[in-house]
Amino acid sequence: MPSSTPLSWPTPEAPSCPILKILQGQVALVTGASSGIGRSIAIALGHAGANVVINYLGHPDKAESVAEEIRRCGSKAITALADVSKPDQVEAMFQKTISELGRLDILVNNAGIQLDAAFEDITLDQWQRVMDVNLTGPFLCSQEAVRIFNKQGIDPTLSCAAGKIICISSVHEVIPWAGHVNYAASKGGLMLLMKSLAQEVAPRRIRVNSIAPGAIRTPINSAAWSTREAYDALLPLIPQKRIGEPEEIGRAAVWLASDQSDYVHGITLFVDGGMTLYPGFETGG
Ligand code: NAD
Repeated sequence: MPSSTPLSWPTPEAPSCPILKILQGQVALVTGASSGIGRSIAIALGHAGANVVINYLGHPDKAESVAEEIRRCGSKAITALADVSKPDQVEAMFQKTISELGRLDILVNNAGIQLDAAFEDITLDQWQRVMDVNLTGPFLCSQEAVRIFNKQGIDPTLSCAAGKIICISSVHEVIPWAGHVNYAASKGGLMLLMKSLAQEVAPRRIRVNSIAPGAIRTPINSAAWSTREAYDALLPLIPQKRIGEPEEIGRAAVWLASDQSDYVHGITLFVDGGMTLYPGFETGG
């Protein structure tokens, strides 16, 4: 790429406080929502009219600033400290959701971590922690959500579904990733957790889907975009030749959470600028 290529890309921002509040009155819980993709999803859901629970682990100030931004649009927002891999903390977070916001309609399993190492150097602790957060977390949170959706049933004034679950997976649910075996294995596992759960709860009108981001400008992968050299090395992997912005995942999440996508069930929506299109074949192979 020419050295004048901008590190930041002019991506149109979603309008703040849109008039069309397609999630009006619904309650959404977003895990890992104090930063990055989770933050953008929480704000986008709030701007679309949902009242939002901002789960966080550390940085209460950042979680509170997400809540403030949502409140400015007229939606309610509360913060909830919980480690998604700890059953007692997860249970308490869902209890807080019901006691403070009265119901739950949307769960976004976003919290995730990377603990990278060459395969032979991955410690059992690194393996286990990634599985705990990226796979056991969505399992525990989805179980709590499904129990609540079962109890609530459908309220047609809010949505034609009894509940919606969105997992934030990764292009690495299908693209193997050397040096990140624990992460890729956790996202591959999340894909079949999502699909199997989607199959099981479909008759109860609970919708389950995933969003698989490609390279998005967030703290988790800052090493891949924060210097000119790293950014230029990333671009050959992306047919659109730009990194994605967290707001682009937020917009996809609003659509997947809304009745606009009611017949979309058990799929992974790739939001990746074409990263899964085998970019090595761009020039004909
Ligand atoms: P991030 O580091 O900003 O966000 C991860 C969030 O999860 C943080 O707020 C962190 O505090 C929280 N978290 C970590 N462990 C937790 C735990 N045990 N309990 C509760 N919260 C916890 O990075 P991000 O890029 O916004 O990542 C969000 C999700 O998107 C992750 O699941 C990640 O795997 C996925 N993803 C990101 C990219 C990307 O390019 N940024 C690409 C594909 C997938």
